[in-house]
Amino acid sequence: MRILILGPQGSGKGTQAKRIAEAYDVPHVATGDILRAAVADGSELGGQVRPILERGDLVPDDLMVGLIRERLAEEDGFVLDGFPRTMAQAEALDSMLEDIGKPLDAVILLQVSDEVATGRLRARAAAEGRADDSPEAIRNRLRLYHELTELVVDRYALAGIEVIVDGEQTMDDVFAAIQDALEGVAAGR
Ligand code: ADP
Repeated sequence: MRILILGPQGSGKGTQAKRIAEAYDVPHVATGDILRAAVADGSELGGQVRPILERGDLVPDDLMVGLIRERLAEEDGFVLDGFPRTMAQAEALDSMLEDIGKPLDAVILLQVSDEVATGRLRARAAAEGRADDSPEAIRNRLRLYHELTELVVDRYALAGIEVIVDGEQTMDDVFAAIQDALEGVAAGR
């Protein structure tokens, strides 16, 4: 299965992507995790992206596309989390998957209001202290989601492969709705 999960920061995307990866036995490819690991390693890439992550800005498209191209070339199936975030990234993803003849099977959109998203991110900031969970970075990340990533959401909706799931339900109910959607895809519904 090749699954893309979309949704704003605080929608529960990472949590649900991990559960999907486990249930469907596919790797969880999370660009935020890849970038944070690079920062923690002190690699050249890490040094380059660290200030961008801290501000809650976006890493340049060409860098992200290069990273994803390498990572996805290694995998048959995946649940992709955090990419694409811009139209240019979405176009690059579609063309790289088309080149290798492995289109997406499903796109899941987790929908939550900004109020719920902000509340969850503040709670996570208190618990985990992620560098980009400062109030300014949270505002910036949500703004960029609405400005840029919602165009990606519209693109997959137009393509007719997007399933909307209410992300304000309990974690288990969200996962049940995702499983339902993925079973529909597998059955060709
Ligand atoms: P969140 O969705 O909560 O912002 P992520 O862990 O997905 O968290 O991403 C953390 C940060 O990594 C982003 O704010 C951004 O700086 C960078 N990043 C991750 N994925 C991408 C991407 N596809 N394009 C550009 N920057 C990205």
